[in-house]
Amino acid sequence: MGTKLKCYVDVMALHNEVTGSCNFLVVKIPAVNETFRIAVDCGLFQEKENDELNHHFPFDAEKIDCVLVTHNHVDHTGRLPLLVKKGYRGQILCTPATKTLMPLALADSCKVLKDTAKRNNKRQLYGEVDVQETIALLEEVDYGKTKKINSYIKATFFPNGHLLGAALILLQIQYENEEPINLLFTGDYNNRNMFFDVPKLPDWVKKLPVTIIQESTYGNMNSDEIVPCFKENVTKKMADGGTIIIPVFSLGRSQEVLKILRDMQDSGELDRSIPIYFDGKLAIKYTHIYLKDGFGLKGFSTDFLPHDVVYVDDDIRDKVLHSTETKIIVTTSGAGTYGPAPLYFQKFVGDSKTLIHFTGFLFEGSLGRMLKEKPVGDFVKISGMLFKKYAEVQYTSEFSAHAKADEMIDFLNQFTDLKAVLVNHGESDVKDLFAEKIVAETQAKNVAVLDRSYFFRISPWGIVRPLATKFI
Ligand SMILES: [Zn+2]
Repeated sequence: MGTKLKCYVDVMALHNEVTGSCNFLVVKIPAVNETFRIAVDCGLFQEKENDELNHHFPFDAEKIDCVLVTHNHVDHTGRLPLLVKKGYRGQILCTPATKTLMPLALADSCKVLKDTAKRNNKRQLYGEVDVQETIALLEEVDYGKTKKINSYIKATFFPNGHLLGAALILLQIQYENEEPINLLFTGDYNNRNMFFDVPKLPDWVKKLPVTIIQESTYGNMNSDEIVPCFKENVTKKMADGGTIIIPVFSLGRSQEVLKILRDMQDSGELDRSIPIYFDGKLAIKYTHIYLKDGFGLKGFSTDFLPHDVVYVDDDIRDKVLHSTETKIIVTTSGAGTYGPAPLYFQKFVGDSKTLIHFTGFLFEGSLGRMLKEKPVGDFVKISGMLFKKYAEVQYTSEFSAHAKADEMIDFLNQFTDLKAVLVNHGESDVKDLFAEKIVAETQAKNVAVLDRSYFFRISPWGIVRPLATKFI
């Protein structure tokens, strides 16, 4: 059947689960005997058991024609330098904000990879030179402006609330006057952001006959299942006196938590005399970018820092660690494993007047997961040393940067001619569950789950059929 088509795309996802995001597309135009290879995202696998996957691509990096990036999270960008190391020299398209943020993330990722490789006596995935060469290939595309990749393919980026600079990417593939193939990649998706307004998609996009490559991280949870508790836990602990440690991701979550604390100061829920410390080199650098101008995003608020917030560096950290005053410490990393967080845990985990409040996903094997699960009075191992846990440990998912199942269904239902939905970026059982929900609750004519076992052939009329990966 494929040979009769004048134009088609074979799509697969390299990631079976929620990290290592990379969608690989082979665009075929038999009429002119042309083939184009495209990658949408090129992320690092972060699960320990998937580490070996990081070293290989199931395609020849030199033969990729174009790379597009949805957003600056390392599970979507962290293998770009490896792609370049293996010979990729084409453009890497992203939004202006992503272009500004990515050098910081890749430099940090490179440092983490270097430390891990040294510790485990393994070869390093890539080095600083590869990062520099990757940054030189970044090319910015403004939201809403259509970028022509070649005579047959064009791309348009649209705002996405997941993260500063995040985009939904529309790829349009067309051979002469044939029907076009429209593919919309959600990347990680959120319908709102605490820092800027997320405009609706233009009508012309919603009317397209479209195939959507849809993330599904929270495909098993509805938005009304999230019960906010952060403010309440913080005010309660402040009233008792003690130390509050808030582990945060460097980008997005740091700035959101600072903004909430500022709002609490302004509303009188948080006494302005209680010192707020902010620790984490990368998080502080990102915060300076947030404080500049918001990249012209509508409604962007640059006035979010808590009053009298103190940036912590190596010189004053000791003072913070040894102070007995009531205080709030916002520190990286989000799951507690990296950055200065373990230093604060060592000092305060044995203190029953301390609250450690996690604000983001605690992956299996992280220090945060262990702290959350160990009962009070048990030993916890932090950086090789044992401590008895007496601190209160709380967790909230109210800050999540991903839309929930009901919100993703609403997103899909905006499209009036939904040809197909390919579900990616979720735990495998969640992807299946969410795919069933899409079948039941949208008009999508074809629904399939992407992983690295299949290519799906997409014609202008939607999915044609799955093909085994040996097709590569
Ligand atoms: Zn993300």
